[in-house]
Amino acid sequence: MSLLIYAESAEGKFKKVAFELASYAKKVAESLGTTVTAVTVNISDVSELAKYGVDKVLKVNNDKLAGFTAKAYADVIKQAAQKEGAKVILLSSTTDSIYLSPLVAVALEAGFASNVVGLPVSTSPFQVKRNAFSNKAFNITEISTDVKVLGLAKNSYGIFESAGAGTEEDFNPTIGDNDFGVKVDSVEKVSGKVSIADADIVVSGGRGLKGPENWGLIEDLASVLGAATACSKPVSDLGWRPHGEHVGQTGKPVATNLYIAVGISGAIQHIAGINSSKVKVVINSDPEAPFFKVADYGIVGDAFEIVPQLTEKLKAF
Ligand code: FAD
Repeated sequence: MSLLIYAESAEGKFKKVAFELASYAKKVAESLGTTVTAVTVNISDVSELAKYGVDKVLKVNNDKLAGFTAKAYADVIKQAAQKEGAKVILLSSTTDSIYLSPLVAVALEAGFASNVVGLPVSTSPFQVKRNAFSNKAFNITEISTDVKVLGLAKNSYGIFESAGAGTEEDFNPTIGDNDFGVKVDSVEKVSGKVSIADADIVVSGGRGLKGPENWGLIEDLASVLGAATACSKPVSDLGWRPHGEHVGQTGKPVATNLYIAVGISGAIQHIAGINSSKVKVVINSDPEAPFFKVADYGIVGDAFEIVPQLTEKLKAF
């Protein structure tokens, strides 16, 4: 038996989460006394995975899988798991994989735990720690089925180099025609040079920015930091920014290394979506703004004065 990961990719390249998942899998595999196999879809050069501990790569190349289709991808992962006799299957908690993971679990009659953080608390019984209540608490979940599917919370573990054997094998799973009920044909990027999903740093603006004409402030700071830009819900509701940038409970979840909130009050629904970020910096003119309660660093003051100064200082580095 081996441990199987699905190494996510887009446009022919691995996503950063694939390396985090491989790093995590290596440690879990060590505790189970097994090896790490990865299944990849339509990636020609998979050699990078070996740097993060992957011992074997099952390479699937199939034009039918050019667009993401949860059912077809779930079928691929199921067949890879069965071929390898994998008892633990790991996916990342990304937008794609939150659709994919439950389908994989159903197909394999496996128990499933999403939003897993940290290494398993125990391997016998098999228990994992998970984010709960919009990341305000943890719970310990026991999976008692023979086959287990886990979704690793993004940016919860980190990326660590550790050599794996990295052997490669072409794999041709059967893909049925009724696997394609719903298919993503194309992905149109609506804004931002860096995607929120892959960003290490996010600079986010709220209604305190007063209007879309002031967004240069956020973009300049983001550009100096190589960060993605984001916003609060009212900002996207007002049409100041595209909906794809809205973060929070009803928007995109953000789990970055650094989250900078400018002119955002810190409503519970906003915090719920960004709480897993490691360092939170808040810039707000109101010292009583609720966001300061969860901030690691806070600056009380006018964003229109502070942000340009911060950007200029950072340019000097
Ligand atoms: P405001 O509440 O108007 O806050 C603006 C802040 O800017 C204030 O704190 C103010 O002090 C500060 N400010 C003003 N001028 C300046 C200045 N010159 N310099 C610095 N600071 C300044 N919200 C989300 O963001 N994401 C969600 O996913 C989400 N989901 C929701 C789901 C539900 C069911 C509901 C009911 C609400 C949801 N909301 C969500 C909305 C949420 O409750 C808040 O209304 C929203 O987050 C407030 O946005 P804001 O902080 O940008 O605006």
